[in-house]
Amino acid sequence: MRFPANVSKLRKEYGFNSGNVFTTTNPKTEKNGKVSDMPTIVLHLEPINHGVCPAAGSCAALCLNKAGNPVYLNNKLSRRQKRSMAFVSHRNAFLELVVIEAARNVAKGYKGVRLNGTSDNAWEREQVIISQETSDYVMYLSGRYIQPGAYSVIVAMLRLGLLPYDYTKRIDRDFDTARYLGYHLTLSWGGKHDGVIFDVAERYGLNVAAPVYGIKKSAKLPDTITHNGKVYNTIDGDITDFRKQDPCDKVYIVGLRLKKTPNQTEELAKRFCIA
Ligand code: SF4
Repeated sequence: MRFPANVSKLRKEYGFNSGNVFTTTNPKTEKNGKVSDMPTIVLHLEPINHGVCPAAGSCAALCLNKAGNPVYLNNKLSRRQKRSMAFVSHRNAFLELVVIEAARNVAKGYKGVRLNGTSDNAWEREQVIISQETSDYVMYLSGRYIQPGAYSVIVAMLRLGLLPYDYTKRIDRDFDTARYLGYHLTLSWGGKHDGVIFDVAERYGLNVAAPVYGIKKSAKLPDTITHNGKVYNTIDGDITDFRKQDPCDKVYIVGLRLKKTPNQTEELAKRFCIA
C-alpha cells in the first residue's frame, strides 16, 4: 500500500521516514515502558520558536531541548526544526503524517503518547482532517479504523488506542475538554504563570510538576514541599514520566530532580526550582 500523495510529498521535502517523526528513546519516557508498562512515543518540536511555548519563563534557559549526548545534538535539533517547519507550513499533511506514524507505533506495541516533548501546544484544539487515503493507510498499518473527517489530534490518538498525556505551563489550555477527552495534563512550574499555577491546579484538579533544587539522582525527594504557606505531598516524577496513573484526590507536587543542561548556573537553577 502507498502513502497518501500529500503526505508522501511532505516526507520527501523534509526527509521524514518511519523512524524520525516520533522519538522512542527519550531517557525520561523510556522509563514509562519499564516502570509503568506504558511504552510511549514522543513528538519533539523546536521549543519557543513558532509560538509553541507561549508560557515559557525561567524554564527557557534550562530547557531539556539542548540536554543529552552532544554527539547527537545537532542532528536532533535539526530534525526538531524540520518538524516545526512542517507543522507551521504544511499543517494538515504534517498532522496526517503524525497520525500515520503513531499508527505504525501502535502496531509495535506503544501505548502512551506525549505530543509536547519540547513544546506546549494546545493539542486539544488542534484539528487534523483525515483523508480516505490516510484512513486506509492507518488501517493497513495498525488495523485501527479512523473514519475520514475532521478530528482533534487528541481524538485521533485515542482512536488509535493511544493514551495521551502532557505537561503544560499554560493556563489558557482547555482543561475541561482535555479531561473530557481523556488527555491527561499536569501543570508545570517555571513558566510565566507561576504566581497562579496552584490556583489553576486547585480549580481543575491537576497536579503541578516542578524541579527541586539539589536532590541527587539517588536521593529521595522530600515527602512534602511547602509553597506559599501551604504543604503539598510530593510524587517522585523521575520514576516514570507517564502521569496518567498519578493520584488526583488533591493537588500534588510532581517533584523532578534538576537535569544537567548546557550553560546551567546556580542562579538560573535556583530561579527555575520551586524549592
Ligand atoms: S515550555 Fe517546556 S519546551 Fe518550552 S522552553 Fe519551557 S521547558 Fe522548554
